[in-house]
Amino acid sequence: MSRRTNIYDEITLRNQLEAEAFERTNLSFYRYVIIENTQETRDRLFTQLNRIGVLGRIYIAREGINAQISVPDHNLTEFIQILDSFPEFREMYLNFAIENKKDAFLKLIIKIRKKIVADGLKDDEFDVTNVGTHLTAEDFNRLLEDENSICIDMRNSYESEVGHFEGAILPEAETFRDELPEVLDILEEHKDKKILLYCTGGIRCEKASAFIKHHGYKDVYQLRGGIISYAQEIKEKDLPSKFLGKNFVFDERLGERITDDILAECHICGTKCDTHTNCKNPGCHVLMIQCPVCSEKLNGCCSDECKTILLLPESTQMEIRRTAKKQKSLIPFSKSRKHKSLYLPSQDNQINQ
Ligand SMILES: [Zn+2]
Ligand SMILES: [Zn+2]
Repeated sequence: MSRRTNIYDEITLRNQLEAEAFERTNLSFYRYVIIENTQETRDRLFTQLNRIGVLGRIYIAREGINAQISVPDHNLTEFIQILDSFPEFREMYLNFAIENKKDAFLKLIIKIRKKIVADGLKDDEFDVTNVGTHLTAEDFNRLLEDENSICIDMRNSYESEVGHFEGAILPEAETFRDELPEVLDILEEHKDKKILLYCTGGIRCEKASAFIKHHGYKDVYQLRGGIISYAQEIKEKDLPSKFLGKNFVFDERLGERITDDILAECHICGTKCDTHTNCKNPGCHVLMIQCPVCSEKLNGCCSDECKTILLLPESTQMEIRRTAKKQKSLIPFSKSRKHKSLYLPSQDNQINQ
């Protein structure tokens, strides 16, 4: 592997980016496809993308590819030609980002991994490449109205809580791994229906649709590019939004508003609210929905206990956290009504969702 990319420090890399006399397009793509020789594919892809100035992060596994990158605008055509030159990556669907932040990526990293998404599944038993039919926003809207269809939200409950498709079934699971068996149970009663799946950026539906098809269901569809692409397409084509509320995303905003509907409630007092936040006590950090009134009352904490701890000197707080860790208990004072032990996934697992 080339170590050249590591010799510059971050500031140098940022300055280089600043000095570039061209614009960059940020985009992501993924595909479940069997890649027989991951090392060879990785090296060839790295050489070619590096040559045209692509930056970003790509995972390659035997099960496929998952990429978040920025491409110099003047090399977009060549970039697509490069992807097309790999049989596994031909005619790749590209998700273009809404914002083209120039410093989104500082270097190109292509890693070989066991899996392209850390989904916690043991999935050797089914063909991950046998995915459902991809639908545009327009077709998804149309099939939602089909009496013979059912729509399932493939995200976690804390995501669907603040926004989801009208009439969609919202599983209660808080992880993708737990959600799949739950979805199979739900589907028992709907054996002959058209099954519509969606998630944030589409990648979870790839795995979910393959899993559902493996269990004998034939009519499986999924929203191409997820809610992110849906929101762009309905804007472009002036279509009605059948998605209500907020699309939960893993960045500072913790959500992008799609419609004005407020679907959720403050976990403390129950007023209509859909603002996700983490408890300000670092030893707790629980993810919750909290209204401005409760936030002020509790100093941004989830409970009086956390509020009290936050007022203690830093050294005392650290002592409390250490003790809690030693006792192997989660911090015992989270009183959030839901999501008691829910933490935002690490940056690494937030990719593409
Ligand atoms: Zn409240
Ligand atoms: Zn707390």
